[in-house]
Amino acid sequence: MKLILLGPPGVGKGTQAQLLSNEYNIPQISTGDILRGAIQRSSELGRKANDFMSKGELVPDDIILGLIQDKLFGEKPPNGYILDGFPRTIVQAKALKTMFEEHHDALDAVLSLEADEKLIVKRLSSRRTCRNCKTVYNLITKPPVVDGVCDTCSGELYQRDDDKIDTIQNRIAVYKKQTEPLIDFYRAAGILFAINSSGSPEEVHNIITSQLED
Ligand code: AMP
Repeated sequence: MKLILLGPPGVGKGTQAQLLSNEYNIPQISTGDILRGAIQRSSELGRKANDFMSKGELVPDDIILGLIQDKLFGEKPPNGYILDGFPRTIVQAKALKTMFEEHHDALDAVLSLEADEKLIVKRLSSRRTCRNCKTVYNLITKPPVVDGVCDTCSGELYQRDDDKIDTIQNRIAVYKKQTEPLIDFYRAAGILFAINSSGSPEEVHNIITSQLED
């Protein structure tokens, strides 16, 4: 199964991608996680991406497309996956379509996660992420058992720089301008599922699986 998770920052794409990854035993491919890993390693990709990410801007399309081409159609292409955070622009979506056509392949579904903006800002500012295993917590709805420590691997929990309030507003504005048009793009392709994501992670997960298995 090849899925895209679309939606504003903080709507729960990462959380739902983790749940779907466990349910269907397919990897989650998060361009944000790949870029943060590159920044941590201070690789060339990380150095290029850091300036954009710290301001809440999108990383240029050519950088992202090179990375995705490699991941999805490189030496060991995965059989299925959940794309989390890609595509984010019409240029990226059109390039992905071309890549699929060249490989006689196709997406199964695009899940458009939707929630009220106030809820999104609240979720983002209370999000904490494990530095080690990337498990995502929420200080209000899903706090760790021990403050600052990951339940799964005991790694350190941290607040992403771009989850601080000034950057959040910019990320939402960037989403509306550059990513929201993808909803119409995939609706026109007939593979869009709109998902109400204001409930708990488990509730949203159940909505998604019942839609996919319908
Ligand atoms: P995320 O973890 O998906 O919220 O992504 C964090 C940041 O990484 C974004 O705000 C962008 O700066 C960058 N990023 C991730 N995915 C993409 C993408 N597909 N296109 C451009 N920038 C991206």
